[in-house]
Amino acid sequence: QTAETKKYLASDGVTKDGVKIEVELNIGSANAQEVHDIQYTDGVGLFRSEFLYMGRDTLPSEEEQYKIYRKVLMQAGNNPVTLRTLDIGGDKKLDCLELPKEDNPFLGNRALRLCLQHRDIFKTQLRAALRAGTIGNLWIMFPMVGSMDDIRNAKAVVREVQQDLDRENIKYGKNVKFGIMIEIPSIAMIADLAVKEVDFASIGTNDLCQYTTAVDRLNQNVAKYYQSYHPAMFRLIRYTVEQFNKAGKPICVCGELGGDKLAMPVLLGFGMRRISMGIASVARAKKIISRLDLRFAKEMADKVCQMETAGEIEAYLKDSLKDVI
Ligand code: PEP
Ligand code: MG
Repeated sequence: QTAETKKYLASDGVTKDGVKIEVELNIGSANAQEVHDIQYTDGVGLFRSEFLYMGRDTLPSEEEQYKIYRKVLMQAGNNPVTLRTLDIGGDKKLDCLELPKEDNPFLGNRALRLCLQHRDIFKTQLRAALRAGTIGNLWIMFPMVGSMDDIRNAKAVVREVQQDLDRENIKYGKNVKFGIMIEIPSIAMIADLAVKEVDFASIGTNDLCQYTTAVDRLNQNVAKYYQSYHPAMFRLIRYTVEQFNKAGKPICVCGELGGDKLAMPVLLGFGMRRISMGIASVARAKKIISRLDLRFAKEMADKVCQMETAGEIEAYLKDSLKDVI
């Protein structure tokens, strides 16, 4: 990163034509550095909670989780903290929870599916989160949602936890928002329905690409088939953004494409107004936003959705954005 780019780190993400874009932070350990970096962003768009469960023999207690969620919420102030519930399985394993071996773990019992099965683990996390939600602006997000049933089942567990807390006279956040990751094509394609059941959503382009192109995101042998600029990706994202914007509910991108210098302007062209990324991409993203005119971004976005291949789209974006990136 050049010194010139770094200057943008603490700036506001405003487009050339004056539209504010919420630039949020992805965090995955809540260590001192990550907590410090929150100040450069408009909140935490993705708080991966897996670290709490990894590399240890026992599950994290409610109290332990509560303290960490509280710390992050305090630092973010009024800005949102989007806490993603446990996304384990697939490539991520736990020592503190023995899981049966599966032939296709990425298509198996992972994330929300696993949490719905291991209710005790899920409920402990939700209790800790809801209790921490009395401070700050907490958004709870469920990963790997594929159907309306998934959303309703997750919300039913939340209601159970809220009732438990009520019964025990324990205070919890009453204004917590509930949302989903959109990272399975089946839920993206019914975004018009899903939006009615949630307060917000965030598109996980890493898994969305994996499941749309049918490519294991870790398998180097087929890496060339993992096409993030595949026209199908842009069309799915466009459709999802349109449905959420129509409903007036927040929609964000927290996968790699959100901080990607070529794709991010297209996302804004679709009407996306929130993007979340690792700290390493924040300054550059704000710089690109400040040089981008949204009418131009919209024109590009329309063109991209007419194109036939990822290669064609990439070449077009490189050429069109050469004065911006
Ligand atoms: C994604 O899938 O795009 C995402 C943000 O989640 P993860 O990379 O943790 O699966
Ligand atoms: Mg994911």
